[in-house]
This record gives sequence, structure tokens and C-alpha cells, in this order.
Amino acid sequence: MTYREDVEGIDASILMHPKVWQASGHVENFTDPMIDCKQCKSRYRLDVLGDQINEKKKKKAVDTLKENNPGLVSKIDELLSGPDENENFENLLTDDETGNKLLAELNCPQCGNKGTFTSARKFNLMFKTFIGPVEDSGSVVYLRPETAQGIFVNFLNVQSASRQKLPFGIAQIGKAFRNEINTKNFLFRTREFEQMEMQFFVKPADDKKWFDYWKGERINWYKSLGMDGEKLRFHDHAENKLAHYAKEATDIEYLFPFGWGEMEGIHNRTNFDLSKHEEYSGKSLKFFDEEAKEKYLPFIIESSAGASRSFMAFLLDAYYEEEVKGEKRSVLKFHPKLAPIKAAILPLVNKDGMPEIAREIEKDLRRNFKVFYDDKGAVGRRYRRQDEIGTPYSITVDTQTLEDKTVTVRDRDSMEQVRVSTDQLSAYLAKKLMD
Ligand code: ATP
Repeated sequence: MTYREDVEGIDASILMHPKVWQASGHVENFTDPMIDCKQCKSRYRLDVLGDQINEKKKKKAVDTLKENNPGLVSKIDELLSGPDENENFENLLTDDETGNKLLAELNCPQCGNKGTFTSARKFNLMFKTFIGPVEDSGSVVYLRPETAQGIFVNFLNVQSASRQKLPFGIAQIGKAFRNEINTKNFLFRTREFEQMEMQFFVKPADDKKWFDYWKGERINWYKSLGMDGEKLRFHDHAENKLAHYAKEATDIEYLFPFGWGEMEGIHNRTNFDLSKHEEYSGKSLKFFDEEAKEKYLPFIIESSAGASRSFMAFLLDAYYEEEVKGEKRSVLKFHPKLAPIKAAILPLVNKDGMPEIAREIEKDLRRNFKVFYDDKGAVGRRYRRQDEIGTPYSITVDTQTLEDKTVTVRDRDSMEQVRVSTDQLSAYLAKKLMD
């Protein structure tokens, strides 16, 4: 965000006026279809139930469904005709005509019983709480399920304060809360997570151009931070699968060990949100275009990424093991910009003045970089510990330092060492970390 002059930042509230969530459609539409197993009481999200059932069992259930319902065969075939098998099965499960019939043919993944599922019920994912001492319906507020709405309602505040003109964006990073039916896969699906969203406001006629632009920019962002391009793909949403606010949408997916999963959604939200917030607040959110001398609601191109979910993808992507001199070496090859610690400072031995020099270096570097001082154990062990947490550079103060004021800088990935003068260290690191 700070690298671009056309994007501003904001930190909006987590608790906003409840009408914000009525206007956005979340009170009505932010639901997942939920089913229960009557036998073992396990609870599932209907649309992702298929992920927990193996392909053989799914095929058998679909075959039986067709046999028992000859009149529905052409409809079933049509629902199954898409390119993505998981999505096809989801289509069958969530369809009004085929859903309950298919459920009756499936075994509960937990207890194995067949035909024990309830019908699907809509479950709103927003966490509710109350403002003030009285817990009644008049004082309900919601923990934000996304950061985006805080940007929309503040659109004109930010625009006028920053004197931006279209096109420009507002970005925000912050906590979002969703009462997920099943949390799973570590950071992939949690009830409290970190989002990083950017809403880009454009002239309505330019929406397609900017949608395509942000698609390219966003996938390149992951690649530029070292993510394996082979494990990245777009998943375009079919027209009948678009969210209620979207004209066009795509997900950036990563190949997690458990399959492809969304890290980020890019949407053309049109002027849906701004017009709804105008309607519910009674306040104009129109932008005055000085060149065209007209007032209108901009269209919005959104990039909505999970910071915690994509961090998990970066973590998985960076991990590798190799054998070095007969020993296993585990490394997180984080891009230096992502590495939580940029450099470790290690005195070779804890005597001869080495710790004092190392502490001086640490003090100097810490002003600009997150660094770590480690003097415990053999230096080889210390290198390995830094490899495991992805520290790109290890700086060692040794006997030669005492003579010529140079230190070794070891590169995490190649394990090569070069000698650098202590007064050049800061510039050396800055250059390496910026590349
Ligand atoms: P999903 O289909 O996985 O539930 P979504 O399409 O509802 O995700 P969005 O509303 O588009 O997700 O949210 C934007 C991003 O926020 C997602 O791409 C994802 O990275 C992240 N995200 C959403 N829900 C969660 C969650 N429960 N835990 C962690 N990250 C999440």
C-alpha cells in the first residue's frame, strides 16, 4: 500500500452500526447451509460435505440417486457437467430438487450411518454481541465478518481527506470474525482471522480494465514473494455462483496439501455497496468528478485476501528438507521480505571480546531490522536453528573480526559465506533485503 500513491490506508472499527450489516446484505445473506447427523450429532456445512466423502462413495450415491429418480437424470447430468468435480457434487447437494434426495444416500463421515442427515438450515456466520447493559434486540451489534464494509462507509471521508481522484484505492488490514460451522486445517479456517483487503474505486465504464489489472497484480504479488507459480491458479466464478454483490469474480487459489484452496477473492462489486450504504444511511456517497463535472457512485474492484490463510500458504511453500553432510537440514526459504527475523548475530565463542563486538552490531542493526542475538551452543547448531525459522542471514563475529573488523555473513539458502566489513553491514543487509 505504501509503495503506491493511488492507495490510502485506514483502520476502521470492528463494531459498526448494525445497519451497516443490513445494508451490505450480511444480515440476510451471510449464511452457510448447515446439516446435522441425527445419529451422532455431528454438524457439517452442506456445500463442503463432499470434501469429506471419498470419490467411490460419492459415485455410488449419485448412481443410486439416478436409479431411484429416473425423471431427474437429465437434471443430475447437467448439474454434474462442470469442469470441477467438487463443485459439481456441491451443485447436486445444494439444489432444491436433488439435495435432500442425495443426502439420503450418503453416510455420515463421522459415524458412518446412512440417511441420518437433517435437511439443510441457513446459519448466519456473524457473531452477535450487545451494546450497553441491556441485552435486547435493540442493542445487537456484530463483530465485523470482513473489513471491507468499514472502507465503504468511510469512502468519502478518506477521499476528501487525502484529495484522491478516481481511480484510487483504500486498503485495510485487520481482524475479521466468522462463526464457522467447522474450523479446520490449521490457519485455513478459523473463527477469528486476519484479512487484508483493498477496495479500488473506478469510473463505472473502466470496471473491466481494472478488474483484469488487479487480477494480474495480485497473482504476481504472491509470485514476487517467492511462491511457486505451479501451485497458484485462478478459479473464475461461474455466473450462477456469483455473490449477491458481484458482477465478476475470481479466486486466487493455492495448492495446499489438502487440495486447492482460496487465498484471495477479486470481485467487481459494481456500485452495489455504495448505493446500499447511501440508501440505509440517507447520506450521499457520490464522488464529484471535476473533469466531467458530474456526480456519480464509482464502481469498486475488490481484492480481499486472508493474511493468516495466505501466510499459511507461504509457510508451506517455503518449507523444505535436504541432506547436508549426512544430516537433515530443515529450512524455511522465506522471501527476505517475509522472514520474521532478518538476521542473526552470533559470536563464535563467548570470550576474547567477541560478545562485546556482536552486541554492538546487534544494537546498531536493531534500529532498522528485526534481528536476533544467539550465543548458545555450537555455531553450526545456531545456523540450523535460524534455517528452521527462515532467517535469511547469519552474521558471525570470529577471530578475524578482532584483526580486521570484518564478519562472515552466511546466506541461508546457499549456505555460502562472505566477509563484510562491520561498518558496511547495515547497507549490505538493506540492499539484500530490498532486492
Ligand atoms: P471460504 O469460501 O473459504 O469460506 P470466503 O469466500 O467466504 O472463503 P471471503 O469472504 O472472500 O472468503 O474472504 C476473503 C478471504 O478471507 C478469503 O480468501 C480467505 O483468505 C480469508 N478467510 C475467509 N474466511 C476465513 C476463515 N474462516 N479463516 C481464515 N481465513 C478466512
